Amino acid sequence: MSGNRKEIDYDIVIAGGGMIGTSLGIALAPLNLKIAVVEAVARGSDQQPSFDDRSTALSRSSQRMFEAMGLWPEIRAASTPIKNIHVSDKGRFGFSHIDAAEQKVEALGYVVINRVLGNVLQKSLLAVDGLDLICPGKITAVTLSDSQAEVTIQEASGSRNLSCKLLVAADGANSAVRDMIGISAKQLSYEQWAIIGNLLPEKAPDNRAFERFTESGPVAMLPVADNRAAFVWIQSPESAKEVLSLSDDEFTARIQDAFGQRLGHFSRVGKRAAYPLSLSKANSLISRRSVVIGNAAHGLHPVAAQGFNLGLRDVAALCDCIADACTASDGTVDCGDATILENYVEWRGPDHRNLLRFTDGIVHLFGDSRGPVKLLRNIGMLGFDLVPGVRKMFARHTMGLAGKLPRLSRGVPLK
Ligand SMILES: Cc1cc2nc3c(=O)[nH]c(=O)nc-3n(C[C@H](O)[C@H](O)[C@H](O)COP(=O)(O)OP(=O)(O)OC[C@H]3O[C@@H](n4cnc5c(N)ncnc54)[C@H](O)[C@@H]3O)c2cc1C
Repeated sequence: MSGNRKEIDYDIVIAGGGMIGTSLGIALAPLNLKIAVVEAVARGSDQQPSFDDRSTALSRSSQRMFEAMGLWPEIRAASTPIKNIHVSDKGRFGFSHIDAAEQKVEALGYVVINRVLGNVLQKSLLAVDGLDLICPGKITAVTLSDSQAEVTIQEASGSRNLSCKLLVAADGANSAVRDMIGISAKQLSYEQWAIIGNLLPEKAPDNRAFERFTESGPVAMLPVADNRAAFVWIQSPESAKEVLSLSDDEFTARIQDAFGQRLGHFSRVGKRAAYPLSLSKANSLISRRSVVIGNAAHGLHPVAAQGFNLGLRDVAALCDCIADACTASDGTVDCGDATILENYVEWRGPDHRNLLRFTDGIVHLFGDSRGPVKLLRNIGMLGFDLVPGVRKMFARHTMGLAGKLPRLSRGVPLK
C-alpha cells in the first residue's frame, strides 16, 4: 500500500469468540491470514455464554471437520458416542429409532459438554500463528466502506479502532454486530424454555440417546460420561419457572414422570439452568465487506440438536470460499471481495432454509395435541419406522451429510 495511506490491520476480524467464532479462527489457520478474534467475555468467566454447562451433540459432519482440523483425538477423548437414537411419543404405544449399525457408521454423533469443548477450542486458538485474541473486548461500532470494515473495540483500557478486509459477525443470536452492519433479523419466540442438567439413571444409557415427546414438551436424554444422562427438557416459561424452583427430589420425580421408566429410576440430579427459546433468521447473510455466521445468522430450536452443527458448516463453507480465492489469486487474497461473499450466500442458503423448516416443523408437529395433527404424527412415525429409506434420509440430515458439503465437512483439510 502506498505512502500516507494507513495499512489495513487484519485480513479478517471475527466478532465473537464463542463456539463458532473460535472454530472459524482455528479452521482458517492453514491459510496464513492475519486474523483477530474479538470476544466480549473473559475466558473462564461464569458469564461466558457459549462455553457453559450445556451438552452438545456433534453430528458426523462436525466430527469430520474436527478431524480435518486435527482436533478430533482430544474432543473424542472427552465425548460419548451415540449409537442409537430412540424417539417416542408419551401416550402412544411404540417408538421409532435410528441405528448407527444400520446407517453403517461407527456413531450417529458424539456428546460433549460445551465447557470441555471450549477448553480444547480456546487452547488451539491461542496456538494459531498470525491470530490475535482480543478478550475481553466488545465491538461497539462498525463502519463499512468499499475498501475496508472498521470496528471500534471497547476494552478495560479504553476504546480503539481496527480495520480489516472482512468482518465476520459470530456474536450469537442477539447479534449487535449484525445490526451494526445493517442486517435485520426475524425473531420469533417459541414461548418455551429449555431446562438443562444431568442425572444418574438406574440403567446405563449405553450410548443411546432418547427423545420423548410429551403433552407439556419434549424431553431429551443424551449419554454422557460416568453412565450419566444429560437432559434437555422443554417447558412453557411458567412451567419452567415452577420446575426450576423444585428441590432435587421433587425435580427428579417430575422429570421421571415426563420421561418414563425406559432408563429405570433417576437419582443424583445436578445443577439446572434454563434458556428461553426462539427462532431467528438474518434477513441477509452479507453486507459490504461483512458476513454473518452461526447463531447470528440462524437461531434454531434445540429439539433436533442442530444449531452448532449448522454453524460449523457455515465455518467450513466460508473457509472453502476464501481458500479457493487464495488459490486463484496466488496468495494475495482480498477476503472481503464481493465474489467470495456471494459464493458463500449461494452455498449456505439452502442448508439454512431446510434445517430451519425441519426443526420448526418438528416443534409444531410434536407440540400440537389436536386430533388431526396427532394422527399425522402417528402416521409419520409409523412410516419413518417401517420405511428404511425414510430413516436413512432423516439420518443423513441429522448427521449433517445432506447437500453439497465443503472440504472440512467431508474431513478434507483446507490445505
Ligand atoms: C439448550 C440448548 C441445547 C443445544 N444443544 C445443541 C446440540 O446438541 N447440538 C447443536 O448442534 N447445537 C445445540 N445448541 C445450539 C448451540 O448451542 C448454538 O448453535 C451455538 O452455541 C452457537 O454458537 P455461536 O458461537 O454462534 O453463538 P454464541 O454461543 O451465542 O456465542 C457468541 C459469542 O459472541 C460474544 N459476543 C457477543 N456480542 C459481542 C460483541 N459485541 N463483541 C464481541 N463479542 C461478542 C459472546 O460473548 C459469545 O461468546 C443448543 C442450544 C441450546 C439453547
